[in-house]
Amino acid sequence: MKTVIISNRLPVKIIENNNEYTFIPSEGGLATGLGDVYKNGNSIWIGWSGIEVPEERQQEVIDKLAKLNLYPVFLTQDEINLYYEGFSNEVLWPVFHYLVTYAHYEQSYWDCYKSVNEKFAKAALKVLSQKDKIWIQDYQLLLLPGILRNKLQQSTIGFFQHIPFPSYEIFRLIPWRDELLNGMLGADLIGFHTYDDVRHFLSTTTRLLPVNSSANILSSNDRQIVVEAFPMGIDFDKFSNLTSKDEVQKEIEDFRTGKENMKVILSIDRLDYSKGILERLKAIELLLQIHPEYIGKFELYMIVVPSRDTVPQYRDLREQIDQFVGNLNARYRSVNWIPINYFYRSFPIEVLSALYATADICLVTPMRDGMNLVSKEYVASRNNNDGVLILSEMAGASKELTDAVIVNPNNLGDIMEAIVVALKMPLEEQETRMKAMREVVEKFNVKHWVNNFILRLNEVKNSQNSLLA
Ligand code: UDP
Repeated sequence: MKTVIISNRLPVKIIENNNEYTFIPSEGGLATGLGDVYKNGNSIWIGWSGIEVPEERQQEVIDKLAKLNLYPVFLTQDEINLYYEGFSNEVLWPVFHYLVTYAHYEQSYWDCYKSVNEKFAKAALKVLSQKDKIWIQDYQLLLLPGILRNKLQQSTIGFFQHIPFPSYEIFRLIPWRDELLNGMLGADLIGFHTYDDVRHFLSTTTRLLPVNSSANILSSNDRQIVVEAFPMGIDFDKFSNLTSKDEVQKEIEDFRTGKENMKVILSIDRLDYSKGILERLKAIELLLQIHPEYIGKFELYMIVVPSRDTVPQYRDLREQIDQFVGNLNARYRSVNWIPINYFYRSFPIEVLSALYATADICLVTPMRDGMNLVSKEYVASRNNNDGVLILSEMAGASKELTDAVIVNPNNLGDIMEAIVVALKMPLEEQETRMKAMREVVEKFNVKHWVNNFILRLNEVKNSQNSLLA
């Protein structure tokens, strides 16, 4: 029996150079966490290869990836536009993050979403057998559990959604809501980051479909589906150990020089309207207006990683951020001080680690976030137990990191007050809070998350089988 992981993207980047395909492993949390699973035995990870591969060269890519226990799904540019950028990112992403006015309910997006989910199933069936354990990841593949269940009735299927599941009143807006839920219900175990997502899913399903629920178990067509919260963790040791690397130490030294009396506030996000970047900037503006005593006393280092910037809403957001930062800096800067150091690019992990290790405050204020790994990475990097995390109550991580300074990201005054509290927080209090958060992040790391989900999937299947016996 093997374990088969299926996600939109494979955990490698494929690069074509001089007509030769090479593969670079990705360093994302999911790839690290699931590394032990798919690399062992004859297990396998199925996903989109990330680039368009001409038909005549697909077998070559399949053969090369097979050596890494990977199996590619090939998508055309049209499919990427409609299934991924269209349905996944212009329907499911905004609605699941409660930004319903950003959604475009295009029939062509939906048609392609269905056909690409079928395509993933076809690829999976080439390598799957009835006895395998299947673990499907995330919102791009909501229909896949149902499609696979129809073909392999006895198989063990787990599904985990990495983004929030919205309340019924929001989800019901989607024109294809029943089909989406039916797709998810093909799984034996459905996981979300938080108990609130679980609640929303249970109430949405029982209101829209003829299914019954008892506690966190749904009954549909004589099958039982367990729905549970599995808050995803990070590779704690990696982030904790990185700070002692020579390269990182040098970055820390360079970064800190000249800032001995300056408080450094850090924010790191992908460019996304769910991240509350503009609201955060407005809170900084409010701080400078209401507490001018802090002018010249802190600097915000704001990293925004480029993302989806072909989509008009993302392009608009980027322009608004550019304008706001330019305007604020122009008004408040002096010859030797600037309030906001804004970077629109990504950084190597060593630089991120140095920033996490140096920043006195990490400001994480998404309007809605499934989990938010940046907040956990900051905590894992604070080996001295100092530093203050300001965290939005709308991030899944806020359910675990209860010793952060928790804020409502819509309340600019609340964020501003939190920054003042953080700037003034005595070292002893910082240490008490940080130690408590580090314990949580260390214990509930990504390996724990993976093991816990797989253990539970086995239990759920065993209890189904014993009911049938
Ligand atoms: N990150 C990165 N390069 C950068 C900045 C950030 O790889 O230059 C990573 C960061 O370390 C974190 C991830 O991007 O692991 C962001 O994850 P999060 O859950 O916070 O937000 P998401 O982008 O998944 O919504």
